Amino acid sequence: MAYDRNNVFARIVRGEIPCQKVYEDEHVLAFNDIRPQAPVHVLVIPKGEYVSFDDFAAEASAAEQTAFLKAVARVARESGVAESGYRILANHGPDASQEVLHFHVHIFGGKRLGRMLPRE
Ligand code: AMP
Repeated sequence: MAYDRNNVFARIVRGEIPCQKVYEDEHVLAFNDIRPQAPVHVLVIPKGEYVSFDDFAAEASAAEQTAFLKAVARVARESGVAESGYRILANHGPDASQEVLHFHVHIFGGKRLGRMLPRE
């Protein structure tokens, strides 16, 4: 799938839309989700143009991938949930209901999160 440079996270990376930033480095930006689903709900995104996890895993450089992985752990730690526990989640594609077509990982924490997926 082609990357849409006007998606909302691309606009956040370019500074066209504000965000509640919690971390930034050369390759990565992290900010609070606008509709939090847990006391801690942070989104971590690469600054590069990748549609989803599948695209990021296939196309991003080793430096981008390493920076991203380390940033997710760092943001979780700095959000205070490394001891109590947290969940990371990346939606890819229609069955996962991916809404924003710029790769992102959700970090959820700050409460008991229950089972991985709701029972049908
Ligand atoms: P997903 O279903 O994984 O694509 O989730 C997209 C997430 O982006 C949702 O949790 C939204 O609440 C969040 N979101 C959408 N627009 C913004 C925004 N402008 N700032 C922060 N989070 C946003």
